[in-house]
Amino acid sequence: MRKQASLVLAFALALSMVLAACSGGGSGSSGGSGGGSGGGGGSGGGDKGLIGIAMPTKSSERWVSDGSNMVKEFEALGYRTDLQYGEDIIENQVSQIENMITKGAKLLVIASIDGESLTDVLQKAADAGIPVIAYDRLIRKSEHVDYYATFDNFKVGVLQGSYIEEKLGLKEGKGPFNIELFAGSPDDNNAYFFFNGAMSVLQPYIDNGQLVVRSGQTQFDQIATLRWDGGVAQSRMDNLLSAHYTTENVHAVLSPYDGISIGVLSSLKSVGYGTPDKPLPIITGQDAEVASVKSIIAGEQTQTVFKDTRELAKVAVRMADAILNGREPEVNDTTTYDNGVKVVPSYLLEPVSVDITNYKEVLIGSGYYTEDQLK
Ligand code: BGC
Repeated sequence: MRKQASLVLAFALALSMVLAACSGGGSGSSGGSGGGSGGGGGSGGGDKGLIGIAMPTKSSERWVSDGSNMVKEFEALGYRTDLQYGEDIIENQVSQIENMITKGAKLLVIASIDGESLTDVLQKAADAGIPVIAYDRLIRKSEHVDYYATFDNFKVGVLQGSYIEEKLGLKEGKGPFNIELFAGSPDDNNAYFFFNGAMSVLQPYIDNGQLVVRSGQTQFDQIATLRWDGGVAQSRMDNLLSAHYTTENVHAVLSPYDGISIGVLSSLKSVGYGTPDKPLPIITGQDAEVASVKSIIAGEQTQTVFKDTRELAKVAVRMADAILNGREPEVNDTTTYDNGVKVVPSYLLEPVSVDITNYKEVLIGSGYYTEDQLK
């Protein structure tokens, strides 16, 4: 009798384990079948449904951290996640988002590759009643963007421009100095904000001759870098150096992103910059990627802008959880981000300028990197 009872108990235990395994599932692909209003039916304890997270590319560290930070935060709240990277191919991202919709995602968090190519797929999301949060990059030309979690992107540019202003002593009237300008990807709304922010500081010095752009390339279209590609920036810098700097040195380079800064640096070093007679120019950046922080420590890249992706992930997850629970997400900007169809309510975090003087305090002190990672 006893033996029979314990057998039944063991069977029940095994069955419940199998059931738990079926309804659970880590990050990845076990989306609920969903549809209708609720999405993936999951009855198991703590299953609050599936969140689709679409990120642009793994080729830049920051998006890898953004993705894994969000997965961690969402799972801690009891959601399941489907994290996908489009590897900078627009069609990949569109079909990844379509898949998330089919799997019954309850909400989408999207850092777009091309901010203007998601109109159709977001219509599908809207038809299925799925809210959308634009992550870091504004999604344009769609009314189906509910909220936007990002950094103060104009300020990122201001920090880069102000760094050049300060290091060259432009406020004190020094100059003239030669500068070349780089901007980010023309399909990324952020690229315009970074450029406009930087030029809000630098343009007056170009106008009064303290800064000279020897190439004459000062318009966004002339200096943009498709997909933020460091190789593309490197070859543009090669061309600039051979066409305009055979007898003159370049003293500063406005670079909007670390990957571009590293490309520009390779180009400069290949023509002999980085020696006492031909010092490297001041060169800005963004994202505090490991290679760039190491470069700053080695005295090559001069500055970067740190954007704490851990905080951005938290903001996005808080927004999502509020939306899914019928609460108003917290926003702190309701005027800046017009996507061409509507002004998207946003939460902006503060970027921080980092150079050799404060990298330890900002990056190691905050636990973003360990000392070992930067060796
Ligand atoms: C992000 C930057 C990043 C760039 C390239 C921008 O949209 O805001 O942090 O450097 O994309 O990945």
